[in-house]
Amino acid sequence: MIGPGATIGVLGSGQLGRMFAIAARRMGYRVHTFSPDDDTPTGQVADVEITARYDDLDALRAFARNVDVVTFEFENVPIEAVAAAEEHAPVRPGGAALHTAQQRAREKAFLADHGFPTVPFARAATLDELSAAVARVGTPAVVKTAAFGYDGKGQHKVTTPADVERIWTAIGRQEAVVEAFVCLQAEISVIAARGLDGEIVEYPPFENRHRNHILDLTTCPAAVPEPIGRHATDIARAILEELQYVGLLCVEFFVTTDGELLVNELAPRPHNSGHLTFDAAVTSQFEQQVRAICGLPLGSTELLRPAAMVNLLGDLWAGGEPNWAGAFRFSDVKLHLYGKSEPRAGRKMGHITVLGRTAAEAQERAIAARDALLI
Ligand code: AMP
Repeated sequence: MIGPGATIGVLGSGQLGRMFAIAARRMGYRVHTFSPDDDTPTGQVADVEITARYDDLDALRAFARNVDVVTFEFENVPIEAVAAAEEHAPVRPGGAALHTAQQRAREKAFLADHGFPTVPFARAATLDELSAAVARVGTPAVVKTAAFGYDGKGQHKVTTPADVERIWTAIGRQEAVVEAFVCLQAEISVIAARGLDGEIVEYPPFENRHRNHILDLTTCPAAVPEPIGRHATDIARAILEELQYVGLLCVEFFVTTDGELLVNELAPRPHNSGHLTFDAAVTSQFEQQVRAICGLPLGSTELLRPAAMVNLLGDLWAGGEPNWAGAFRFSDVKLHLYGKSEPRAGRKMGHITVLGRTAAEAQERAIAARDALLI
């Protein structure tokens, strides 16, 4: 067991690392963060902020030598960086899980090979393969770069096969995955953790609504039929087992209008849809990650009350500083800001969580509080 007082290293320095560091420091751990940037959301609350490139393997080795365990909040770190860190400290989740989850084509292949339900897809590494993949999958389809974009970056809808050449250029002629475009009834996510001893716990499914491909609203519990929620939980558990995973994993699902449940993607770290656990669950997803990677028993995932979370994007700053007093007038609103100084459009600057008697009531208040920021 890596007990309180030990030092945790975090690769990446965004808001996920920030909330992880807050949870870890509250439990008495020290936190070092490593990323190419400085004065970062994570660095502002960490004990030590290292600024170096992910391909500076000497800097990574030095970073790993000074910590007891390494984790990450950003999965697009080169696998060589993980290997260099692994020479000096355990990395959890391990390099193999990261390798699977950091490239869409590999991730899809893993899911399909192990019988997990996915959207029909085909891989393509050349223009000819892309045409063939679109023909196989059919239109409408979505082309996604195999190297992970995030928040819908690197995604293009194909309505007719004539779109293929334009999209191939638009994605920079790189390896891609073509997915059938499915009609969605809902999107849900299951966040689960697996401990060093193989114990698995999961939160109740979260329901997610996106706007411009970016998560906008999460509510919990999800308003989906109970068998769908149970099926999603079983799939998440099976994926953790299959990967012999240690740490927190988010599995994002599509629920189609036909009631089919499909895995969309995996995030090998705390996830935006789990932010409401900070205020609404006995153990937050961030504390759960600390527990899992440090070999502690896992915490209760019980939800205290139904809850909703809305993201605050940089767009809210377009007319100047948001009206914070407006949101604080809602006495039960929990405001989280990530310490980012540049509020660009589409950039995640913070979020608001509200607990309610029902998820619908929490949702209504969270949206009203966010709207009040612009009054
Ligand atoms: P992703 O980055 O793959 O999670 O995609 C972002 C969002 O785009 C998803 O959460 C969906 O709302 C939408 N989307 C992505 N892929 C598909 C698809 N194959 N069919 C329908 N909607 C999709």
